[in-house]
Amino acid sequence: MFLSVFDVFKIGVGPSSSHTMGPMSAANRFLDLVLSNEWPRPSSNVHVESIKVSLHGSLAHTGIGHGTGRAVILGLMGERPDSVDPDHMDAIIDEVERSGRIMPPGHPAYRFQPKTDLIFDKKVPLPGHANGMSFSAFDKDERLLVKRIYYSVGGGFVVTDTELEQMKADRKKPVPAGERVPFPFASAKQMLEMSERSGLSIAQMKRANEETHMSGEELDAGLDRIWAAMSSCIDRGLKVDGIMPGGLKVRRRARAIHDKLQEEWRSNRINPLLANDWLSVYAMAVNEENAAGGRVVTAPTNGAAGVIPATIRYYQHFHEDWDQDGIRNYLLTAAAVGGIIKHNASISGAEVGCQGEVGSAAAMAAAGLAAVMGATPEQIENAAEIALEHHLGMTCDPIAGLVQVPCIERNALGAVKAVTAASLAIKGDGQHFVPLDACIETMRQTGHDMSEKYKETSTGGLAVNVVEC
Ligand code: SF4
Repeated sequence: MFLSVFDVFKIGVGPSSSHTMGPMSAANRFLDLVLSNEWPRPSSNVHVESIKVSLHGSLAHTGIGHGTGRAVILGLMGERPDSVDPDHMDAIIDEVERSGRIMPPGHPAYRFQPKTDLIFDKKVPLPGHANGMSFSAFDKDERLLVKRIYYSVGGGFVVTDTELEQMKADRKKPVPAGERVPFPFASAKQMLEMSERSGLSIAQMKRANEETHMSGEELDAGLDRIWAAMSSCIDRGLKVDGIMPGGLKVRRRARAIHDKLQEEWRSNRINPLLANDWLSVYAMAVNEENAAGGRVVTAPTNGAAGVIPATIRYYQHFHEDWDQDGIRNYLLTAAAVGGIIKHNASISGAEVGCQGEVGSAAAMAAAGLAAVMGATPEQIENAAEIALEHHLGMTCDPIAGLVQVPCIERNALGAVKAVTAASLAIKGDGQHFVPLDACIETMRQTGHDMSEKYKETSTGGLAVNVVEC
């Protein structure tokens, strides 16, 4: 099992990795398919003239609040999550709505009228996963030429229905010895065993795995790019004020809190909650940017994007010996834990609720932070387990389908729990009662048993008990 650190941490746009970035990537994949030779053409005179898309399950229920329709249109215009300019998105969408055409680079123009050709189908879920999409291309006589089902499986990952079946089958298979990378750990137990045998830290093993695909310089440059994107997201979020989009009229709070904290810092007043306050404001800054559709990094998802940047900034702010290598080791350790969770359970709110998003982010952050605070591999595993255990059962019930309430504050609390978990683990000797693997399996089972109402459909929980005004 190998999931690159750059699959876990992907630069993109808000507000949701599964409901925004995934659908944009699915549209990119469908465009590539249309140009390819992977489908039989009835004759050389037959050309694709129009495209239709339908969204199903959670994408249909909360897609409007999550900007899924906008993401599909942008993807069909050839825009990609890591390069689309958030300031130009509205103009691109306006142009498609006005002309009824999509004009992706390298393609002819296709008919596509968002009002009629982009369907939010709340009645018929697709069988493979809660986040299903169907893309179809037609000729000039409206005859179907090619159709593909895609699933957005969390963290911006997109697979076809066939690939999803393969993934499910692979999850059950034992990991073949020596699978392409030197340390193919698929569980926390294997990770600890390999660490003990090799004498390497978790970050060193993850680095060795990554370096089978790229040079050390490329890896470091990529990790630095990820942190730079996270860091500038915090800085932007601390500067901007106002109401977030979507209709809930929720005001941004990070800037005002930050101003107060700076004033307090300058006046040397003693604040017993100092670290908590800074952690919270960093996390909220990121998630307010995400809610506004700004540039963010999946960590491991957009909804949970604030926890890891907040704890890295906390490491810089409160640990005098922080350095760039520390941040790289943090990201590698966090990605190792995130990969294990994704492989054995899920990081998708639509699959297992928010325990899979903010819970996974907190586990990854606790592991990364413990690593840079000098923890042993056993203490790191313990830190991740403590953080995840105390998110078990947490549902996903965003009000109005917007990644705002409870998501923004939830990231602040996730960051605080992650720091507490790292601190508790470091004070122990790594021996503990609940193994991380058992905790991950518990999350999977709890998510499986959880009612669909609490899995990013906004049909239960806070989403139905708070009056929108
Ligand atoms: S409640 Fe949690 S899982 Fe659901 S959208 Fe918000 S952050 Fe994501």
